[in-house]
Amino acid sequence: MFDNLSDKLNLIFKNLKGEGKLTEKNIELGLKEVRMALLEADVHYSVVKKIISDIKKRSIGKEVLSSLTPAQQVIKIINEELTTLMGGANKGLTLNGPSPVPIMLVGLQGSGKTTTAAKLALFLRKKGKKPYLVPADIYRPAAIEQLTKLANQIDIPVFFSKTNMDVPTICKEARLDAQKNEADVLIIDTAGRLHINNELMKELINIKTALSPSDILLVADAMTGQDAVNIAKAFDDLLDIGGVILTKMDGDARGGAALSIKSIAGKPIKFIGVGEKLNALELFHPDRIASRILGMGDVLSLIEKAEEAIDKKKAAELEKRLRKNRFTLEDFKNQMLQIRKIGSIADIMKMIPGLGNNKKLKNVEVDEKEFIKIEVIINSMTKEEKKRHTIINGSRRKRIAKGSGTSVQEVNRLLKNYNQIIDVIKKMNKTGMKKFIKSKMLHSI
Ligand code: GDP
Repeated sequence: MFDNLSDKLNLIFKNLKGEGKLTEKNIELGLKEVRMALLEADVHYSVVKKIISDIKKRSIGKEVLSSLTPAQQVIKIINEELTTLMGGANKGLTLNGPSPVPIMLVGLQGSGKTTTAAKLALFLRKKGKKPYLVPADIYRPAAIEQLTKLANQIDIPVFFSKTNMDVPTICKEARLDAQKNEADVLIIDTAGRLHINNELMKELINIKTALSPSDILLVADAMTGQDAVNIAKAFDDLLDIGGVILTKMDGDARGGAALSIKSIAGKPIKFIGVGEKLNALELFHPDRIASRILGMGDVLSLIEKAEEAIDKKKAAELEKRLRKNRFTLEDFKNQMLQIRKIGSIADIMKMIPGLGNNKKLKNVEVDEKEFIKIEVIINSMTKEEKKRHTIINGSRRKRIAKGSGTSVQEVNRLLKNYNQIIDVIKKMNKTGMKKFIKSKMLHSI
């Protein structure tokens, strides 16, 4: 979702680099463009004003002007400011008190609340918790049925709510049943409305009073941009929420909500929804998102995702191989196969530092259908060829094409794509990806 902003900022930094040393004048010019890029990404104007002034204050200090690599330092400052803007380190859910600890999900209709309740239950179970789901939206006819269905899909216990029960009673009875089930977290999917109104707020306050939840999370739709920010502020004023879950971050929202919520509503984003599937919920990491916006990719998220879909050992191997430039054609094939489990190849590439905004790689074929072709072509290679692609000459290419039922052009294209990827990985490693992974700082630009 940050593609546009990311592309723009990268262009600005390229121009800054061309200038050699930074002067007050070119910082001003650069920041003017950063300001435009943030406004175009739908970041609230007051937030833009503040961040630009903070960046300027820190950039025009002696620290930067006397530096040998001023552009790097400006990018580092912007990275740190973006991270702070989004709330710094994510403390995750607040789970205090006796089991089952109640967590309330609130939000407007259509924001993705019911889906998120099930996603959160699945997320917590993966972390070793025993969640219990409570459908407390008795107004939208299908809401109870929807959550019950989702809960059954993932085998999480769910309360048998009825539309003629009053909501605080549902919550209290659900808590008793959860206790019997030895659940340790109670996730309550409350009613939504099309707009914020008194009736809704009264009901939510009643639930809050009845259960004293340990955390109240607002589920807001990232696609609604600044509306999501206003909604967060309104819910927080009445309910004192603990944080926000921003859904539909996989869509083409421009990112303004993610960048403005903490600053305007004062509450952090704790999770993001990145798809309709129940495993599409991630902890929100401001530092990683800031790096992603600045084209630094998101190796840690990639590794985490890979760990979930693959296993820890294989993920560690991926990291090691990327770092050591030992990324053979066999690895390439294996990663393709693993990637299909994780998501689309375009998504994964965005997460690797340097690949996200790499112009060359934008031309790399990322058609999902190509996966199968890549697999059969690599399968037709000998062990030696997979290890040392440089030995694959014209006659070998012909043999591989014949063996895989493809054409020499297709074999050539695969090798060209592979070469581009390893070139970028090599370059990244040379410029300090190791350091980046360790410190999550911006040394590698
Ligand atoms: P509720 O009215 O707030 O309970 O919203 P629902 O849970 O019924 O979700 C509304 C729609 O948004 C459904 O079609 C969901 O599949 C979809 N949705 C929820 N979260 C996400 C997300 O993170 N990404 C995408 N693409 N769709 C989502």
